[in-house]
Amino acid sequence: MANELPSALKNAAELKEKFRVNKPLLFLDFDGTLAPIVEKHEDAAISEEMRDLVNKLSRVYPTAVVSGRGMKDVSQRVKLPELYYAGSHGFEISGPGNFLKENDEAQKVLPIFDKIEPVLREKLKDINGVDFERKKFTLAIHYRQVNESQVSEVHHRVSEILKDYRELLKADGKKVIEIRPAIDWHKGKAVEFLKQQLGEKDQNFSVYIGDDVTDEDAFEYVEDGLGILVGDHGNKTYADYSLENIDEVKEFFKLLLEK
Ligand SMILES: [Mg+2]
Repeated sequence: MANELPSALKNAAELKEKFRVNKPLLFLDFDGTLAPIVEKHEDAAISEEMRDLVNKLSRVYPTAVVSGRGMKDVSQRVKLPELYYAGSHGFEISGPGNFLKENDEAQKVLPIFDKIEPVLREKLKDINGVDFERKKFTLAIHYRQVNESQVSEVHHRVSEILKDYRELLKADGKKVIEIRPAIDWHKGKAVEFLKQQLGEKDQNFSVYIGDDVTDEDAFEYVEDGLGILVGDHGNKTYADYSLENIDEVKEFFKLLLEK
């Protein structure tokens, strides 16, 4: 693999000891980390085995799933009610006991999403394979099924329209453009916020596992945290360790759960 990070699997014994001493809060990305990346984003599913592992881990470590997906979407896919879920890159967070937190500033931008979505649909309608996904606080434009030769055209047209909407910004993920509120909020800040909710006073150590460029905000921003990158996204990484793929994520979870 292209990144040169040490393997979390090969260093599992050392990491396990570190986790035993400083019991971490566990933050897990969804697509590409718990569930395989699929051609159509709506088909993504977590395996029973992975669900079971996450469930067991959550009894040892307070656990949150952090995703670019909408909060409801991701929580319905994982289906573990005792976890915290940070959706739309953390603009909306839910947890056990009807815990709910939405970013107030992001709320104000919602009408602009309603306005811009039909404009973008119209502008991109002649490009085959473009797939819109409206989440509460973000609008995703998937281009996994767009012909390679037209991908730059998709980016170009989206950027052109966004020029007129300073309240929104364009972020890039794997084969997806994420349009989100132009406010200072990302997965890393969501994790810091959750740490205050989940952690006890002397417990601030956290582990974040993710595969995408958007997870870098969590790797870079979170204090007293350890980052594990799944696979490789081709950009600079702030992670500390790596796992090659979802199978290795599972292996790592199993090692963590071993007595
Ligand atoms: Mg991901």
